[in-house]
Amino acid sequence: MNILVINSGSSSLKYKLFDMDKQKSLVSGVAERIGGTDSFIKHENGEKTVIDLELPNHKVALKEVLDLLTDPKLGVIKSLDEIDAVGHRILHGQEVFTESVILDKEKVETLKGFIEMGPLHMPANIGGIEACFSLMPNVPQIGAFDTAFHATIPAKAHLYALPYDLYESFKIRRYGFHGTSHKYVTNRAAEFLGKSQDDLKMITLHLGNGSSMAAVKNGKCIDTSMGFTPLEGLVMGTRCGDMDPAIVPYIGKKLDMTPDEVDTLMNKESGLKGFSGLSNDMRDIQQARSEGNKLAQLVYEMFVYRIVKYVGAYTAALGGLDCMVFTAGIGENDYEARRDICKELAFMGVFIDEELNDGLKGKETRLSTKESKVEVLLIPTNEELSIALDTYKLVK
Ligand code: ADP
Repeated sequence: MNILVINSGSSSLKYKLFDMDKQKSLVSGVAERIGGTDSFIKHENGEKTVIDLELPNHKVALKEVLDLLTDPKLGVIKSLDEIDAVGHRILHGQEVFTESVILDKEKVETLKGFIEMGPLHMPANIGGIEACFSLMPNVPQIGAFDTAFHATIPAKAHLYALPYDLYESFKIRRYGFHGTSHKYVTNRAAEFLGKSQDDLKMITLHLGNGSSMAAVKNGKCIDTSMGFTPLEGLVMGTRCGDMDPAIVPYIGKKLDMTPDEVDTLMNKESGLKGFSGLSNDMRDIQQARSEGNKLAQLVYEMFVYRIVKYVGAYTAALGGLDCMVFTAGIGENDYEARRDICKELAFMGVFIDEELNDGLKGKETRLSTKESKVEVLLIPTNEELSIALDTYKLVK
């Protein structure tokens, strides 16, 4: 069975075609700058090809991608009939979609009601789904939601102490994001350890440009650091994460900014980038602090400290800790950050093999030593495969 996974962003469309019998990716790529100038498709079928072409909208981009998949030279299938299902990454399922679902026109209409909760991503996600409906009308379309894995978080952890009416009227609550990644590494970690999920108290650390952590008990998420939007929680590439919400109106008054402008400041001009004034990329921050840049050093310490604080909180919430999993761009590649986070947790019996950890990038590995009370794993995330697996289960 071949499954196409589509991840539509505001100006991009990523794709990956899987042969599920072999659990292997056949081809992948990304259409970029959709709706803008200089748009192109980067296509990888063993070799990388970049094709410059006009991509005025997601539907045209998808049509071009489908043509590429069936292209005699660059493609991997003879006709679109060889695609058995499409899995779509969708940002927000609100409280309606708490697991992956087979999509139909009615469900797409329901999704349109969530645009306000993800104004950047949701229109693109829906655009990708509608394009597939029109270009591949007989192929089942599945939606996998970034929020779904967090649907099991109990009310005491997902509600904010605002007037209850605000939750009832506007569904203001914690949703959490990166769910497909947290779910994937949770499953892989249990497999790796040869243990049942039912025996594990786990913290998953998805540390990328956007970062979040999840507390997972017996395979079910009980808390996560991102909230109503992806802004809450950790210090991220361009997001500030947790702070006193009263700062928002204060900045508004001081700088004569609208709430939307303050929102942009917190989401796009803060975090590693905003604080250091340098870059949202942790590699640049590491380089700068090695050269003695004080703000880079400080924001790195804040990044590590916030994570350590969350590990403490989640260990209490879980009532203990069996396993920690590092994943995503920083989690998989930044061995200094992994080392510095674990050092702060030595009091809890967290010990990693520093020699093994040193220089290690992107390879599934047990980092903890025999003496460690907590298993520490590096598990590369694979959000597309996670979506493909859900799609496979639903259409089979
Ligand atoms: P996202 O999916 O949120 O865009 P990724 O999970 O791809 O992010 O992570 C991208 C980030 O990972 C980069 O912005 C960079 O900060 C970090 N990163 C990647 N490689 C390294 C590395 N070798 N050392 C430190 N950080 C890295």
